Amino acid sequence: MAKLDILTFPDPRLRKKSTPVDQVTDELRQFTNDMLETMYASRGIGLAAPQVNRLDRVVVIDTRPKDEEGRYDLSTMTELEKAIEQPLILINPEVTAKDGMTTYDEGCLSVPSYFETVQRAEHISVKMLNLDGEEVEFEVDGLLAICIQHEIDHLDGKLFIDRLSTIKSNRIKSKIKKFGYPEADEDEEEENSSSSEARI
Ligand code: ZN
Repeated sequence: MAKLDILTFPDPRLRKKSTPVDQVTDELRQFTNDMLETMYASRGIGLAAPQVNRLDRVVVIDTRPKDEEGRYDLSTMTELEKAIEQPLILINPEVTAKDGMTTYDEGCLSVPSYFETVQRAEHISVKMLNLDGEEVEFEVDGLLAICIQHEIDHLDGKLFIDRLSTIKSNRIKSKIKKFGYPEADEDEEEENSSSSEARI
């Protein structure tokens, strides 16, 4: 296992479109382990391959909420979310149907320290390959559906800060380009980790 470096905006590599995976190999499976390790170490709930500089359509996700002792507490998840085993590895994921609308205060490991309300479809159908290279289809809602849409955006070179109003989006982007990111305060991050905001 190895922890990978996460690219941050405005790195131009985050803007490239990732290509579909032809074949699920052992090397790819090992890479998804490294992605999971990187995501957990960064206290994120989702990570897409282009965020760690690999332009393959691969995503890892774990949105399971934890209680104060760090144990998984699935009671706040929707029934559709509970039906899906996590961590979830998605290869070549596609949204094949969507309905409803929801909002969430999204953050992103590639745009650290920023959280903004983003609008997404509430309920989606997803088609993907699993780690055995088999095609799987499922429907989901809740935070998991939001996270999947955020990650597929990464595969298309898109960031959550592109989905804000033009004024807000431009303000955030120019602020980051001018001043960079605030120094990470580990203690503060720890305290905030149980909040409803999540770094995807
Ligand atoms: Zn992200």
